[in-house]
Amino acid sequence: MSESESPSSESSGATYKRVLLKLSGNSFCRSGESGITMAEVSSVSQQIRRIHDTGVEVAIVCGGGNILRGRDFAAFSATINPPTAHYMGMLATCINGLALQDALENAGVPTRLQTAIRMEGVAEPFIRRRCVRHLEKGRVVILAAGTGSPFVTTDTAAALRAREIEADVVLKATRVDGIYSDDPEKNPHAVKYSDISFQEVLKQDLKVMDAQAMHHCMEQNIPIVVFNYQKEGNLERVVAGEKIGTRVG
Ligand code: UDP
Repeated sequence: MSESESPSSESSGATYKRVLLKLSGNSFCRSGESGITMAEVSSVSQQIRRIHDTGVEVAIVCGGGNILRGRDFAAFSATINPPTAHYMGMLATCINGLALQDALENAGVPTRLQTAIRMEGVAEPFIRRRCVRHLEKGRVVILAAGTGSPFVTTDTAAALRAREIEADVVLKATRVDGIYSDDPEKNPHAVKYSDISFQEVLKQDLKVMDAQAMHHCMEQNIPIVVFNYQKEGNLERVVAGEKIGTRVG
């Protein structure tokens, strides 16, 4: 099913107990910039506070692309080995995780930061059962350092963690309104999908999440909702089960 108009406020009938929010590194800075912009971190934290207030359990996987992606160093492999570059990328996600943790706590949200690479001085290690316990106690759990292994992305980490903690949905926060048949900025005839199957995403090679992430969600039948988090209230609407963005399932 496709649509070209703006998102509807129709209900998808979904009510979620536990969500896995994937925040890319670019949620931490202004569009087209890099690093960390306080206004962006603060704005996204306020949105997370509002969904937390509804009682939904929230785990967040942070990206790190605003600071560094391993593949950016591919051309310099004679100086920095590719696995090292990816570990640097994973550490970038921890920097974002620390920023998000303070911003959320300063907004009144109890949090825990868990990392896939141990760094006892600043965060807990990721331990599945402990993560679930925090969620049950109403803490937002920020998951950083991806999977802890190089050559994959934080999309894969998000899908893996969603499986592990039995999240009801992966919410992929983006700056676009959903998944289109083509790049809407280049092709005026591109149509937006409101619902699409995993198989169709893979068949059409649509850029939603990387293929490994898609396979994890497909195997466990965890839907992915791709939505524009920058539109005021969208995160709350998605969590309330309103049909906005694109639902892959
Ligand atoms: N990364 C990795 N293993 C993981 C997750 C991330 O090696 O399990 C590295 C990889 O180099 C990646 C970088 O960390 O480019 C930052 O993550 P990502 O590109 O997924 O961030 P985003 O695009 O979401 O901002």
